[in-house]
Amino acid sequence: MSQRFTGRSIVITGGASGLGRATATRLAAEGARLTLVDLSEEGLAAAVAEIRGATADAEITTVTADVSQETDVQRYVDAAVSAYGRIDGFFNNAGIEGRQNLTENFTEAEFARVISINLNGVFLGMEKVLRVMHEQGSGAIVNTASVGGIRGVGNQSGYAAAKHGVVGLTRNSAVEYGAMGIRINAIAPGAIWTPMVENSMKQIDADNPRGAAEQFIQANPTKRYGEPHEIAAVVAFLLSEDASYVNAAIIPIDGGQSAKY
Ligand code: NAD
Repeated sequence: MSQRFTGRSIVITGGASGLGRATATRLAAEGARLTLVDLSEEGLAAAVAEIRGATADAEITTVTADVSQETDVQRYVDAAVSAYGRIDGFFNNAGIEGRQNLTENFTEAEFARVISINLNGVFLGMEKVLRVMHEQGSGAIVNTASVGGIRGVGNQSGYAAAKHGVVGLTRNSAVEYGAMGIRINAIAPGAIWTPMVENSMKQIDADNPRGAAEQFIQANPTKRYGEPHEIAAVVAFLLSEDASYVNAAIIPIDGGQSAKY
């Protein structure tokens, strides 16, 4: 494994599970010093154990925090700076799917809940991490959008609005910070098999989530789900110097699904 992140301080939100945990594992193997942020303290402990299973001497700070709360966001940014003195990379990734429903039944409360985590949380993270990176004059951010941030999927008003918003935030800030040595990109994953997607299949068919999953994936050109490590590889690339001229890009990682709808 190459060592593109030796000594580099990387913050990952949603680091306890799915895409965040897989990316943490990949970056630790490449020498990164990690700050993992999540609502779930138990999940963070399990993630640390898994990462150290693969990279015994991994440097990891954990912060239990809610990305939608400004004081929590300041706390995780401060924790990373106090542990490592700087923030070189930020995977702004925590998110929820929300309950699936037709727009007329979606409810304002559910809309507000999904927006507060998936959009306000991403903005707050950028706002506070960018202050650190601006002062350093360097850094890279990857925001997690979704295929649902570039296409209509259905039954996901809050999620779609938030993820389209993440795409807009990414482009806007990338244009602002390009001249300051900071690159900002977003990924748009398709169907990646994580606890979030498993839960989504239970919403479609509570009795037979595996069957719903099989049917769902037939629309994908590859006829399979993506694996979290396949997202981690792209995020690692975008956070690394290999992507030094990639800025304001929204990268689908979806087996070609977004080209087909
Ligand atoms: P996941 O549920 O496995 O992991 C998400 C993690 O975020 C969990 O550990 C959860 O505790 C944490 N989290 C949730 N709300 C939080 C909050 N308010 N503050 C801090 N942490 C919080 O899901 P995943 O599939 O790994 O999803 C990660 C990101 O990828 C999300 O933004 C999701 O929308 C996006 N995404 C996933 C897929 C997919 O197919 N899995 C596709 C497109 C986009």
